[in-house]
Amino acid sequence: MARLFGRGGSALLLGALLAAGVLVTVAAVLLDSRRDAWDRAREASANLARAVERDLTSEIKAIDLTLRAVSDIMMRAGADEIRPELRRELVLERVRSTRYLDAIVLLDDMGEVIFDTRQRAPSGTGNHADRDFFAVHRDHADAGLHISRPYRSRLGDGLWSIGFSRRLSHPDGSFAGIAVGAIRLSHLQAVFEGMQLGSRGAMTLVRDDGIVLARHPHDERLLGRDLSGAAPFRRMRGTQDGQFVSTASTDQVQRFYTFRTLDDLPIVFNVALAVSDIYETWWEKAVVIGSVTIVLVVTMLLMMMRLGRELRRRRDAEQVARRNEATFRLLAENSSDMVSRLDLSGRRLYVSPSAERIFGRPAVELIGCSPLEHIAPQDRGAAEASMTRLRAGAKAVLAEYRILRPDGETVWVEASASTIINEATGEPEGIVAVIRDVTERKMLEEDLARLARTDGLTGLANRRAFDGALASEWLRARREQTPLSLLLIDVDHFKLFNDTYGHPQGDDCLRKVASAAAGVVRRPADLVARYGGEEIAILLPNTPPAGAALVAEEVRAAVEAIGLTHEGNPPSGVVTVSIGLAAALSPANFSDPMALVSASDAALYRAKRAGRNRVIGSPPAPIAPAESPSGSGEQGARAPDRASGAARRGLSP
Ligand code: GH3
Ligand code: MG
Ligand code: MG
Repeated sequence: MARLFGRGGSALLLGALLAAGVLVTVAAVLLDSRRDAWDRAREASANLARAVERDLTSEIKAIDLTLRAVSDIMMRAGADEIRPELRRELVLERVRSTRYLDAIVLLDDMGEVIFDTRQRAPSGTGNHADRDFFAVHRDHADAGLHISRPYRSRLGDGLWSIGFSRRLSHPDGSFAGIAVGAIRLSHLQAVFEGMQLGSRGAMTLVRDDGIVLARHPHDERLLGRDLSGAAPFRRMRGTQDGQFVSTASTDQVQRFYTFRTLDDLPIVFNVALAVSDIYETWWEKAVVIGSVTIVLVVTMLLMMMRLGRELRRRRDAEQVARRNEATFRLLAENSSDMVSRLDLSGRRLYVSPSAERIFGRPAVELIGCSPLEHIAPQDRGAAEASMTRLRAGAKAVLAEYRILRPDGETVWVEASASTIINEATGEPEGIVAVIRDVTERKMLEEDLARLARTDGLTGLANRRAFDGALASEWLRARREQTPLSLLLIDVDHFKLFNDTYGHPQGDDCLRKVASAAAGVVRRPADLVARYGGEEIAILLPNTPPAGAALVAEEVRAAVEAIGLTHEGNPPSGVVTVSIGLAAALSPANFSDPMALVSASDAALYRAKRAGRNRVIGSPPAPIAPAESPSGSGEQGARAPDRASGAARRGLSP
């Protein structure tokens, strides 16, 4: 079945075959029932004709017998001697034995009535010599039983009648008159009346010369008409019985004729049913069945067409989907990025081969597991947040995180994930994620960021990095209520050094001073930065002034210890630095970071003024350890031995 429906056209073809099958079957059934209708009409007509023929034949023979008997009675020698009353009784007795006979009349050789069963005595009901049947018997001795044309009775009632007559002969054979048996057409009509003939059917009793004797439905104009020239009559004449279809000349209606010639009598009886009447009931049925069938067949064809279209559409959609799938795989499997497909719960269903390069694991190992696995713990939160946004309806999300490989390496990746929307339903049906190795880019970015924060000459943090650190450490110190110390360091008579030894030597000198300063600072949070020109700043978070003073002194000593000749810097004759120190304390002694910088700068200025190569603290910080050797207790975080070193230098504001 699926094969048959594989192509939309086949559905239509099947529909057409089914429709043709239904139409042929219904047509066959209808034709069969049409034949049945015809057969039924044929049989019914034949039965009717046979019954009427039997009835009329026996009746007419009875009439003939009666006529013979009456002739006998009346013409027998000595009949005159019988009392007229008795004679009449005898004849009446005979008449009563027939069903249709209305009267028996005897005419003499001149046509005068000599006996009439309807009258006690002949009362001159007229001369009947003009009647055709009178002439027939008068002129032909061998006329036998004669049947007249229909005529109107001359008795007062004037009803349509047919006369059956026989010749009366004298013993010598000469014409003595005739005996006439009259039947009223209305009697025959009453017999015919009961037959069902349809709206245009007819029954006709015709004399063998074509004269119409009776017709049902009754039509006076047809009585006595000569049909000898009409086609239907010509087909009946001379044949005992038969059935045929012909068109009546009188009304041009096509009828089915069934006829029988009455046994030994010159009369043909026929039943003619209009062909349209025979098929009328069948037609009504055929129209209903035909209409219903056509509606059903058309509906079925329309449905099949729709089904065909739907199947074609589905097949096209499947083809597109297969092509898309192939394209997707082609792209996925040739991409250096890892392409994966996930169900809506986030489980991986497909993983492209690049997984191995990025995750260090075969692709199959990643199928079925959550994308949050193998992510560095510190990045898991960000990745999870992206997934949540995607599930909440975001079309696409982007995240960067680190992957932990089984070989211990960390790979930075950029993952972009989008929801796949089912075209037909408009509902999300899955997720496509592309994971790209961005480790190199990340390194580069980190290098750039480091470069952006580093001073090119000295390799220390630059001014921008210092400003950022100062701002954030300031806030932290405030928040955590810890002291924040700042040293500002300036090379003594450096302009002179440049002038004496040249600018490149000056640069070299700066590098050495920077490295000496950096060598003193060891805490990770401490920051040594080139503040500008030949000035260096050291930011010491969580360091009280006393500790900061120790560091400052250590820096000063370290620079002096380099022993770089600087003749213009007496009395030492080597490169030295002056250092200004200020500390932000809690409760706050400075309103903002700039105030702290200004205080250090002011202290530095005082150190220059005081003779250079020394450390000066900004009030109210407790300053030089030389002045308060017992202050080692305040120096908490910093080594006490350094404090004693500073004391030896005799630092003072
Ligand atoms: P003082 O003892 O009062 O500090 O005297 P000074 O000569 O050092 O005066 P000042 O601090 O004002 O001098 C700054 C000089 O430092 C000016 C400039 O020639 C020199 N300088 C600043 N930056 C650089 C640098 O990057 N390389 C070199 N070679 N010299 C620099
Ligand atoms: Mg300076
Ligand atoms: Mg200077």
